[in-house]
Amino acid sequence: MDISGKISNAVRAGKLYNLDHFHHAWHDQNLKRLMGNELLFPPSPKVIEAVTNILPKMNYYPEDPSTNKELLHALADYAGIKGGADWVTLGNGSMEIIDMLPRTFLDAGDAVLLPCPDYSPYARRPLLYGGKIMDVIPDADFNYRLEDFTSKMTSRTKMIILSRPNAPAGNVLPRKILISLLALDVVVVVDEAYVEFSDETVVDLLPEHNNLVISRTFSKAMGLGGIRLGYVLTNPEMISYIERIRVPLNVSLLTQVAALAALEDTPYIWANAQKVIEARDQFSVQLSQIPGIKVYPSKGNSVLINTQKTGVTAHILQAKLLSAGFLTRNLSGGRGIPGEFFLRITIGTMKDMREVGNLIKEFISEN
Ligand code: PMP
Repeated sequence: MDISGKISNAVRAGKLYNLDHFHHAWHDQNLKRLMGNELLFPPSPKVIEAVTNILPKMNYYPEDPSTNKELLHALADYAGIKGGADWVTLGNGSMEIIDMLPRTFLDAGDAVLLPCPDYSPYARRPLLYGGKIMDVIPDADFNYRLEDFTSKMTSRTKMIILSRPNAPAGNVLPRKILISLLALDVVVVVDEAYVEFSDETVVDLLPEHNNLVISRTFSKAMGLGGIRLGYVLTNPEMISYIERIRVPLNVSLLTQVAALAALEDTPYIWANAQKVIEARDQFSVQLSQIPGIKVYPSKGNSVLINTQKTGVTAHILQAKLLSAGFLTRNLSGGRGIPGEFFLRITIGTMKDMREVGNLIKEFISEN
C-alpha cells in the first residue's frame, strides 16, 4: 500500500518541531540548562510533598480538568479574575493550548497574523487546520506599529496570536497597540508564558473584550515545566467552545495535584521570579558592555543577543559556552531571525550568569 497516499491534509501540512536541546540537557546532566527557558530553581517543597502523597493513587484516573473546580478557581484567583472557574480551562502544557486555539477557530483558508519572530509552534499548528500564516514584520529592534498588523488584515483573518513578552526577543508589545488589535473583528490570543517576569498582564482587559484569549503556563516562573500544564483565561462563552475540542482527561493526576500545591505557595513563585528578574537585568547590563554585542532588552526569563558586529557566529559562541558547561540556544536562521548571529540565553542563578557574561567577554576580546 502507498501509505503516503492515505495521509490526511493535516499530516501533509505538518512539520516536525526539533526539541533536541532537551535531549542534550537530559543526556548530559552536568550541563547548566540555559537553552530551554525553564526555571532553574527546584519546585516548592509543598509541590514535592503533594506529588509524593498522591503517588499511591496513580492507578486511578484523574478527574477531568473541567470538573476540578478547586484548581480552576485557584487559577482564576491567582490571575486576578473575578468570574472564577468558568473563565479557565487547561492544556497539557501551553504547547497543547497553541494547538487547541487554532482548532477551535479556524476553517480552511482562514488566516492567522503572527509577529515574526515569535514562538515557532504558532506558525505550525494553524497549518494543520487549513489555516494560513501572515507574517507581521517588526523593525530591526523587533518593535511593532499598529499598521504592521492592520496592513496584513483581510476578510479571512480570524486570529492574531502573539506572545507578550515576546519569545524569543523578550520585548513587550505596547498595551495601546494591543487594545487597538482587540477592537478588530478577530480573536486575539495573548500568550503570557513569561508574564511573571514582566508585570505586564492584560487579564484586566478580559471583561470588556470578549475576543481576548490569554494563554499561560506552569513551565516558566512556576518552575514546573516537567508537569506539562498550561491554562487558558477567557470568557465563559469562549471556554465553552474550547471545551468541545479539548481532549478529555488531558491533564494528568500528578499535574493537577502539583499545580494546586504550587498555587498554595505563591510566595515561592514570586521569590523565584524576582531572582530571575534581578539576574536578567544584571546580565543584560554586563553583556551590553561587551563591544559588538547587541542585547535586546528582555522582560522574559532569557536574553537574546546578536553577535554580528563581533564577527563571531552564534554557533561558535554556543560551542565555546558548551565547552565551559553551559548549554545555550542558537536561534539563528529561525523564523524572523535570519543570519547566523542570534544566541538566546536562559537566565539561571546570578552566579552562573556572571560567569557566562565573563566567558562571552573573554572570548569576544580574544577574537
Ligand atoms: N509559549 C511560549 C511563548 C513559550 O516560550 C513556550 C516554551 N518555551 C511555550 C509557550 C510552551 O510552554 P509549555 O508548553 O511548557 O507550557
